[in-house]
Amino acid sequence: METDATQSTPGPPPSKGRVGGVLFDIDETLVDLYQAMRDAMEVAGRDLLPANTAQDWDLFAAIYMADTHNYYDRYVAGEFTFAQQRGLRARVVFDQLGTADFDEVREQRWIEDFEVAQPLSIRAFEDVVPILDALDAAGIPYGCVSNNVYDYQRAKLDQAGLARIQVLVGIDTLDAAKPAPQVFLEGCRQLGTRPAQTLYVGDNYLIDAVGSARAGLRGVWLNREDALAPSNPEGSTEGLDEITEITNLFELGLLLALEPLEVRL
Ligand SMILES: [Mg+2]
Repeated sequence: METDATQSTPGPPPSKGRVGGVLFDIDETLVDLYQAMRDAMEVAGRDLLPANTAQDWDLFAAIYMADTHNYYDRYVAGEFTFAQQRGLRARVVFDQLGTADFDEVREQRWIEDFEVAQPLSIRAFEDVVPILDALDAAGIPYGCVSNNVYDYQRAKLDQAGLARIQVLVGIDTLDAAKPAPQVFLEGCRQLGTRPAQTLYVGDNYLIDAVGSARAGLRGVWLNREDALAPSNPEGSTEGLDEITEITNLFELGLLLALEPLEVRL
């Protein structure tokens, strides 16, 4: 049967076929973890720095996140517990700001207050619900593949108002982490989609976009900060021509030619 080319819909090249499903990273892709941590720092620390303005807490968070002593990496390597690295990173900032009374008791209280406040501060980015609505309307299944433990990320999605995301692969699902191919493939298996017809959307160029492309998915780099793509430390270009770059999730809707989607670029 002949088709009218003027009525064809724009979209991915025919050789790639229709997108059958979408998998997302969670932190800094669906939820604004940076903002949640910054807000939790203000809650946990405001009694020590009562005169701090919002800008002061932005600076506090920036110093904390810079983690110049690599406490987070040293926690990952087994040198500290997760709670300890939070206290140590706070100590660096309080020391730098000249807050003398951040003693061991206050450090323990900081850890506990931060632990309570941070999950309550988790919010989804404003472009998340519209893209999920559009995917639902198009009948395209979606889920998450994350490099944190399942229960922690399940609670985070629920707190962010994203309980509708049912498929979730955590770092403890297969005891493997991105960019290992099997975690991306497990996400496809749970969605019921073929990898070549599944998009993976994440903010980390190498772990998310390159990693998923190498696993046989279609990698999409969500570059919210409009940063330059980092160079590939392995020097391989394998899979890189499969990567698409977007700066927000409204653009994902445009990429997939989804309707309806209120575009607020
Ligand atoms: Mg991320």
